[in-house]
Amino acid sequence: MAKIVAVANQKGGVGKTTTTINLAASMAVEEKKVLVIDLDPQGNSTSGLGVNATKSTPSAYDFLIGNKSVEDAVIEAHLKYLYVLPGSLNMAGFESEAASVKGSQELLRGKLQDPYFEQFQYILLDCPPSLGYITLNALVSASSILIPVQCEFFALEGLSHLLKTIERVRKQWNPDLEVEGILPTMYDKRNKLSNQVLEDLRDHFPELVFKSVIPRNVTLGEAPSYGKPVLLHDALSKGAQSYLHLAREILAYG
Ligand code: ADP
Ligand code: MG
Repeated sequence: MAKIVAVANQKGGVGKTTTTINLAASMAVEEKKVLVIDLDPQGNSTSGLGVNATKSTPSAYDFLIGNKSVEDAVIEAHLKYLYVLPGSLNMAGFESEAASVKGSQELLRGKLQDPYFEQFQYILLDCPPSLGYITLNALVSASSILIPVQCEFFALEGLSHLLKTIERVRKQWNPDLEVEGILPTMYDKRNKLSNQVLEDLRDHFPELVFKSVIPRNVTLGEAPSYGKPVLLHDALSKGAQSYLHLAREILAYG
């Protein structure tokens, strides 16, 4: 059975997509078969993995609403063991469509029951920056949630709301949902505030914060413009190494 990890935080720009792409690539390098499902209408993890999706490219949205079989939609991305189910702008419509359908929180979970998914060891869900129906579907389907938190001002804002949402999902739909970990991102060791945020995170959530910390790293920011995970762009960069470290931390934990 695949372990399904939702990469979620309702704040935008905290490193969800960067984490999804680079954690997936690092797991693939560790010979785990990984599928990225791009649930964000912006489709940044799709383009960041080098997939040039057009309007006619079968997407996660088509799969979710039942228009396309998953076999037709999943694409190989760069590395052996690395696959992506592309995102599309259509997914934005799901928020309003879902509101009028009973049980729409459980749509993705139902779809992921397809035996097709058994070939993967990990499925990473890249979520949009909101706690709407798409993210809710991800949390209802997931084995765990990975929460990237940017080491900057207001970092902890919103985190308690997210943790409450996780509690609600556990109570109503998915009692087994675990917190895979809180991941400090864009850490700058020379910056006092960045260090303060890291310290606060470790104080408040000692059990939940990963040992791995993702530094602010120019190479990480520029890799998506080449349509590549950073490992394939500059494997020795601090960014690439930090995501490899995270992958090993998660794989060791199981
Ligand atoms: P989210 O998916 O949460 O909105 P992204 O992963 O898209 O966030 O990151 C937001 C922006 O910050 C992107 O331009 C990305 O390339 C950049 N970025 C993310 N993580 C880092 C990092 N560790 N160092 C430098 N830039 C980063
Ligand atoms: Mg994103």
